[in-house]
Order: sequence, then C-alpha cells, then structure tokens
Amino acid sequence: MHEKIYRGIVASPGIVIGRAYLLDRRKVVVAGRRIEDVSVKEEISRFKKAVELSKAELEDLKKRISKGLGKSHLYILETHIMLLEDKLLIDGTIKRIKESLLNAEGALKETIAAIGLKFDSIEDEYLRDRKIDVEQVGERVLRNLVGHKQESMADIKEEAIIIAHDLAPSDTLLMRKDKILGFATDAGSRTSHTAILARSLGLPAAVGLESITASVKTGDVVILDGIHGVVIVDPDEETFLDYLKKQRKYKYFEQELEKLKTLPAETLDGHVVYLQGNIELPEEATATAEHGGNGIGLYRTEFLFLNRQTLPTEEEHYDAYRHVVERTAPSEVVVRTLDVGGDKVDMDGEFEKEANPALGLRAIRFCLKKPDIFRTQLRGILRASAHGNLKILVPMISGLTELNETKKMIEEVKAELRAEGRPYNEAVPVGVMIEIPSAALIADLLAREVDFFSVGTNDLIQYTLAIDRQNEHVAYMYEPLDPAVLRLLQMVSEAAHQHKIPLAMCGEMAGDPLYAAILLGMGFEYLSMNVASIPWVKKVVRSVRMQDAVELATLVMRQPTAALARKTADNFMAERFPDLMEEM
Ligand code: PEP
Ligand code: MG
Repeated sequence: MHEKIYRGIVASPGIVIGRAYLLDRRKVVVAGRRIEDVSVKEEISRFKKAVELSKAELEDLKKRISKGLGKSHLYILETHIMLLEDKLLIDGTIKRIKESLLNAEGALKETIAAIGLKFDSIEDEYLRDRKIDVEQVGERVLRNLVGHKQESMADIKEEAIIIAHDLAPSDTLLMRKDKILGFATDAGSRTSHTAILARSLGLPAAVGLESITASVKTGDVVILDGIHGVVIVDPDEETFLDYLKKQRKYKYFEQELEKLKTLPAETLDGHVVYLQGNIELPEEATATAEHGGNGIGLYRTEFLFLNRQTLPTEEEHYDAYRHVVERTAPSEVVVRTLDVGGDKVDMDGEFEKEANPALGLRAIRFCLKKPDIFRTQLRGILRASAHGNLKILVPMISGLTELNETKKMIEEVKAELRAEGRPYNEAVPVGVMIEIPSAALIADLLAREVDFFSVGTNDLIQYTLAIDRQNEHVAYMYEPLDPAVLRLLQMVSEAAHQHKIPLAMCGEMAGDPLYAAILLGMGFEYLSMNVASIPWVKKVVRSVRMQDAVELATLVMRQPTAALARKTADNFMAERFPDLMEEM
C-alpha cells in the first residue's frame, strides 16, 4: 500500500512516529422529532436532567485535573460550565421545546445551530473559534440525553498518536502525557483550544486536516509532522527512515534550544533585545518565562468578551490583568485594549452588520464609539497598573485625531481614579500599534505623542498589500518581505529612533526565525511572539553580530521584489544556520 499524505494547519511543532489511535468523537446521532403538547413538560425535564448531569461531569473533571497536567487550563472547563447556564443555549432550547414542539434532542440541536450561525459572521479568528465550545457543550448534553457514554483519553494504555474529529478540552485535560505522543484532528485552527493546549503541553499537533479520521484506523503507522502540519499514513520505507532521521535531529535541536532558556537574547557583540510572548488568556501568564522569554509583549484582551451575553465588569477586567501583571513582574506586560468590531460584541443589534468589517468599526474605532465599554476596560487596566509593570497598547490607530481622543479618555479615567483614591501608575506608558499604513506613514507625528510603538504585521501586511488575511485564495501574496512592507517598517523604525521611543513588533513576522536578523538590523528592540517560537528566535539573535544584521537588512531592503528579498534572507540563513533552516 502506498503512503497517504494529509496537509493541515500547524498547531504545535515537533515530529512523532507511532501507532494511530482513532478516538471516536463522531457526533451522537440523534433524531429530532415533533412532540405532542402533553409531552412538553417531560421533554423539558429530560433536558434539564441532561444539563445537570453534564454539569456534574464537568465538575468532576475539574476535581480530577485540579492537581494534574491541565491545572492551568481549568478555565476551559469553567467556560463550559458557564455555558451550561447560558441563556441562549438553555432557555433557547426550552423555548424551542415549547414553541416548536420539538423533543429535547431536536430543540438542542437547532439551538446550537442557531448560535453557530451568529458565530460564523464573526471576523476575528479567535472569537469565531469559540463556536466550538458551544458545540462541545451541546454534544455533551446530547450524549447525556441519549445515554451514550464516550471512551475517555484516560483509558488509552499504549503510546499513541491521537486521531480525532476534534478534541474537547476535557479530552486533552484528562490524557496521560506519557501515553499520548501528539494529536491530529479534522477540525481546528491555529487558535482553537486544541492548538493552544498542544502548544502549552509541548505535544506535536496538526489540526484542520479535514478528513483524516476517514482515512486512519487504530493501529495504523502514522508520522505526525507538527512543524509543517502534515500527517503521513502508512509511510513508505524511505519516508519512514527519512523522518526517523528528521525526528532525531529535531529532538537534538530542541535540547540545544532548551539550553538557551536561561541565557539572555543578546547578539555576539552584546546587543540585547527583548523576546516576549503573545498571550490571549490570563492562564498563559507564565508560559513566556517558561520558554525563556522576557515579559508579555501582547496581551490580547478579546477573551474577556467571549461566551457571554453581558459585558465584562470593571472587576473582571481588573482581576484578569492584575493576575497576568503580578505573575510577570518585574518583567512588563503590554495590555492591548479591545480589538473587536461592532459585529462581535452582542450589542442588541445596535450596530449593523458591516460589508467590510476589516475596514469598519473595529478596535479603537469601536471603543471610541462605545465610551462606556472602553472606560470600563481602561479603569480595569489602570487599576492593574498599580500591581506591576504594565503598558497600555492601543490597536488600529490610523491618525492623530484618534490618538488624541484616546489619550484624553485615558487621562479622564485617571482623574476619576485619582478622585476616588484608587491606586494606579500615573506614568503608565501608552503606545500604539502600527498596523494601518496611514499610521506607518505618519509614524514621525505619532512618535512625538506616544511612549512606544508595536508593529502589528498581520494587519499591516493585510492593509498594505490589500489582501484579506482570512482568505486562503490570496494567502500566497501575504509576504512580510514585500518591498512596500519593508519600506513602511523602515519608516516606523526611523521615527521611533529619532524620537527615542522603544520599537516593538508583535505580529507573526516577529516569531519567524527567518526574519529575526533582518528585524534586528532594522532596529527592532522588542519582538513579541507565540511563546513556542522564543527559543528559535533566541538562537538566531545569539548567533549574529549586529553589524551583520544591519548589512543583511540593508541588502534585503534593496531588493525590488519579495521573491528576491526572500532569496537574500534564505541565503544568509542557510549559510549561517544550516541546521535551523532544515528544521524550519
Ligand atoms: C497584528 O495585526 O499583527 C496583531 C498582532 O494583531 P492581531 O493579529 O490581533 O490583529
Ligand atoms: Mg492587528
């Protein structure tokens, strides 16, 4: 038989070879059917019982993992428990039983589908992925309705690579790390829980493989290449031997990188840069330090607004930020204010659905339009600033008027806190994300007004090259080394240096070792990235001289096309870091 290769999304790096274990996570097949009026009461009571049972299961899971591996991920179970009290889900189902005269199974399925539709229109990838939480909770209730027990990952006795349609948080939390080599799933994206967990557990994983479960049986030999998001089923001998070699090399390489953990990110000639982590959840607070990073360069706060009908309170904001700031001190935490659009927060239809949400009422535009939401968050952030080293980062600033309005609000909130006698850091630094070309073009004007810059290349590239960052059909044009992008980066760097403010980058470009030397050469002093990338970038930083980095950046900047710039960068890296390039 010939090997089969499946390509998905990179979720967590590493290579494993082993036997597959096909975890049956097919959805329970349930029949929705019409009921008579007289059965309504009974169906509602069946539904409520299944919800209670699901809650009890989750509480039990919580107890079981509170000492183990997944301790820091209890929040996922808490999210699911909260969902079991969610109005849309629970009251929505009961309403459907009553009004549409559906049995509990049918009503629940329709409710989940209706909630799913709402999520689909969300542009933000992270928020959109939370749809999975609703589906997983729904699936648990459905199973309890039909009395279908599910095999548990805790039961797996032999070492295996888990192949599943999707994994629920409870799966990943219960598994025994000594038995699970890695996982590959049909569903998922870079920011799905499965991917986040895999990274924090250090297990190789590939997600978004679409139909991997249809092609693998338990016991099949599979190679999981988490570096490229590839799964090879029944590999040929040649592939097998080739991957054995790659795996050995990768392991060796990882051990070497591990040694860098406690060493500073310093070039051969003593130039120090800060390698920082990007996080989205308070529970990830310690992950950066665990990977040898120095502080959190981007704390995305959208998470606080998820899975709920009400807006987060000031105390919730404060608690989350304080938790991260205290755990990261004395290193800094850059808290980014809310970056969502009007379509992403449940505002009772106050905002119309936008035709071009990426060009619409997003991030700071939304916050300035909704000062109450913004003020509440700012109060939480400022109060947290009293507990450690916190900086405020404002996303999607496009010009000075917007910036001035934002700064004015920050000052007003400070005055409120002062009057109330609440502590905060009066000198809290305020920076802006440079992620809209207009901001890059007036970086000199902005630099006078802020304490630091952080370049968001994910959006800066999207808006500069006019390519939707979500659209796979134009993904091939998404090129950080495009001369237009590099020129903007250069302008931003010049402005930051001229006005003596720190220059950071927190877009994905910052975490790619291929670009590390170029960014150093361009004058970036802070690089904030997915925590798993920190050792890789550190390796590059510690192996170059500043002089060489500047020469490389100059050479790359001179190239007239992205292809030539990439070739220049590749050649430099292949010459300096042949091992690293092979692993990438
Ligand atoms: C960016 O745009 O590069 C960035 C870091 O922000 P986000 O990916 O959250 O839009
Ligand atoms: Mg952005």
